[in-house]
Amino acid sequence: MIKEVLVAGNRGTCGGVNMALESVNQVLDIVDRRETVYTNWDIVNNTPIMKNLGDRGLVCVKNDWDKVPDGSILLFSAHGVPPNFHEIARGKNLTVIDATCQLVNRVHSLVKNAVDHGKHVVYVGVKNHPETLGVMGEVDGQDISLVENMADIENLKIPGKSAVVYSQTTLSTAEIRQKILRLKERFPDIWIPSRWDICYAADNRQQAVEKLVKLVDLLIIVGSKHSHNSEELRRIGEMAKMPSFLIDSPLEIDKGWFGENIQKIGLSSGASVLESNTESVLDWFRDKDVLIKYLPQVVSEKSMMFKLPQASINLLKARY
Ligand code: SF4
Repeated sequence: MIKEVLVAGNRGTCGGVNMALESVNQVLDIVDRRETVYTNWDIVNNTPIMKNLGDRGLVCVKNDWDKVPDGSILLFSAHGVPPNFHEIARGKNLTVIDATCQLVNRVHSLVKNAVDHGKHVVYVGVKNHPETLGVMGEVDGQDISLVENMADIENLKIPGKSAVVYSQTTLSTAEIRQKILRLKERFPDIWIPSRWDICYAADNRQQAVEKLVKLVDLLIIVGSKHSHNSEELRRIGEMAKMPSFLIDSPLEIDKGWFGENIQKIGLSSGASVLESNTESVLDWFRDKDVLIKYLPQVVSEKSMMFKLPQASINLLKARY
C-alpha cells in the first residue's frame, strides 16, 4: 500500500527551456494568429507543451523545409541547429527566432574552434538527436567522430592528429564517465576538458534522483518518451533495479504497478516539464490520500532564465 510520494527537489524546467518557452510565447502573442508560425523541431521535447503550442498555432515541420513557405516566421528549437539551417532560412527569406539554449551553443563553439585549430573531435552523443545533428553540422561532419555506445569506442579510429572529447548536454554523468575512462585507455593522449559538457540541469536532476532511489520502492519520472534527459532519469531507477516509469500525465498511471511491497514512491521530472504537469501527477496520489513530501534540492538551483533572442523578437514586432 502506498504511504508517501517523495518529490525530488531538483526537477522540472531548466534555463534553456524557460528561455525557449518564453520566446515562443512572446512570438505567438505578437503574431496573434495573423499567420502560421513554424518551428524546425519540437521547441522542447515535451508532448503536452507541444500540443498546447500547436493549439495556439505553432506548426512543427521536423526539419522538412518544403513545409515552410518563403517569407514566413520560423523558430529554431532549444536543441540548436547546424549552420546550414541559417543559410536555408536566409534563402527562403524567413524571419528566424533562434531559441537555441546557450549551453548547446557553447558546445557548438568548442567543437568548431577545436576543428579550426586542427584537432579531431570525439563527440559523445545520441545518433540522430537534434542536438547531435546541430553540433556535427557545425563542422560539416568532418574531423568529428560520433560515439554513442561502448562498441563505437572499440571501433573508433582517430586520424593522426590530437583529439578532444565533447558531448551532448543531456547525457548521464555515470555513463559518460565510463566512456571517458575507456576512451582514455584506448587513446592515452586524448584530451578530456576539465569541465564536462553535461549541463547543470541534467546533472542536478540526475544527482537528485540518485539520492531519491535509495529511499523509495518505485520511481516515476514525469516527461515524454522522446526526452533524452527524462529517459536518463528513469534509467537511474532501472539501474537501481526498481520499477521505473516515464509518463506524460496521470492518465498513464497503471494501478497494477503498485503491489503490496510498494510503499514509497519517488517522483521527479525532466528538464522540459512544467511544474503544473508534475502537480497533475501528484494530484492523482493526493486524491488517494497519499502523503506528498517535497525534498530539498541536492544542489541549490534557482529558477533560471537565459537570455532571450530579443533582437529578433523586436524585429518581429515591426512586422505588423
Ligand atoms: S537541459 Fe541543459 S542544455 Fe538542454 S535546454 Fe536545458 S539548460 Fe539547456
